[in-house]
Amino acid sequence: MELWETLRFGARALLLKSMSTASPERIAHKQLSRLRRLVAHAKENSPYLAEKYAGVDLDTCQLEDLPTCDKSEVMENFDRWLTVDDVKQDEVEAFFDNDANLGKLFKDRYVLSHTSGSTGQPLLLVKSPIDFELMFALQAARGHRTSLDLKEMITRFTEPVRLAAVTLKPGFFPSGSAFQYMPDGVRNFIDVLQLSLNDENLIARLEEFQPTHLTTYASILHELARAVESGELDFGDHLEQVVNISEKLMAGPRKRYQELFGAPVLDDYGMGECLFLTSGCMTSRGMHVNSDWAILEVVDDDNRPVPSGERGSKILLTNLANRIQPFIRYEVGDIVVMASEHCDCEVTLPLIAEIEGRNSELFYAKVDGQLRPVHPAIVEQAIGQTMEVREYQIVQDEPERLQVKIEPIGSAALDADQVRQEVLEELKGEGFNELDVQVEVVDRLVSDDQGSKFKRVITNFEPDQ
Ligand SMILES: [Zn+2]
Repeated sequence: MELWETLRFGARALLLKSMSTASPERIAHKQLSRLRRLVAHAKENSPYLAEKYAGVDLDTCQLEDLPTCDKSEVMENFDRWLTVDDVKQDEVEAFFDNDANLGKLFKDRYVLSHTSGSTGQPLLLVKSPIDFELMFALQAARGHRTSLDLKEMITRFTEPVRLAAVTLKPGFFPSGSAFQYMPDGVRNFIDVLQLSLNDENLIARLEEFQPTHLTTYASILHELARAVESGELDFGDHLEQVVNISEKLMAGPRKRYQELFGAPVLDDYGMGECLFLTSGCMTSRGMHVNSDWAILEVVDDDNRPVPSGERGSKILLTNLANRIQPFIRYEVGDIVVMASEHCDCEVTLPLIAEIEGRNSELFYAKVDGQLRPVHPAIVEQAIGQTMEVREYQIVQDEPERLQVKIEPIGSAALDADQVRQEVLEELKGEGFNELDVQVEVVDRLVSDDQGSKFKRVITNFEPDQ
């Protein structure tokens, strides 16, 4: 059984590898046929989606013919949204109430997780363990610095990847569940150590494990970098690759960490609704969308497509693999820029140039007496020029003033005055002349609430007043 699963995993990874360099037409064809099959399955098995897609012709429908949806719609209709009738919202919530359920399957066949609810209510997620095989196969096939072929697969079989996954805290979170429910077939290729930032022996356990691969959040990378800089942590020369998920890492620390960790630092962009959405690219340092298994549409406020090279207001996500809880044209408030040029690597999948954070992370500035929301990318543009800033945070207590805190990398000396001038200039260039800016250099920037994601923007007033 296990050998069969191992072979199936290997074959699947090799197939996914070959699809990543297929012609765009072939990938588009695959995507459309999977989309139509998913909609057909949803119509047939989900009472809610049967009504939502009642007017959709399954033989001719295109992506843009399908209505969009969002988190509140999914959560308001949770039970009827699912394509199975043995999972109910109250049972799911009761499952999360018991920590002993961590790592267990619900009713022996479902993987349950929930988001943190940092943007409103938590989203409850229901998946099949087989979805995780796809995720790991995509990671092995496309998210890896060395190119995958049969020889590499056999090497990995005898010398498994040692993957350390460090999350913020233990819990039923989507990124953590991925490692807890790793299918048996994957275990022969990947040896996983899952740790969390509040693990008392984090540094000692990391050193002992000697990871070849490290997957974590930018804020945890900062923490590990601080430990390497102070001589507390030494990865030796084992690390082959570092993958940053879920938080943005600026160009300065990325460059510095590559030297510090002795391995390339890639980004992967995903979310609980679709963990395998992208694979980091070594050539462009962007991310390729796994568009044979997921669809990413960059859109404006009214869900109209935004051209490549331009910043969208949000994205619409379609996960073509999850048949239990379908996410089709599902709104996610992330600001994404698609690359306007083809990647120089051999991969033909669409390329994301930049993830600029969430559209809810904003500060405010007055223009002609009117308060307007502003994305922190403007400030980051100015700060990022020094290359020696590890992290920054914008705190706004009142509309007229902005307090910018910056943490240097290692012992770098930052000139607060110079950074202030650069931020002011950048703001002026965008027409925000009325904002007073203060810059403060601090020793450490970490989340105030331990175990939560780091907030880059904190607004302490009600903008409507
Ligand atoms: Zn590429």
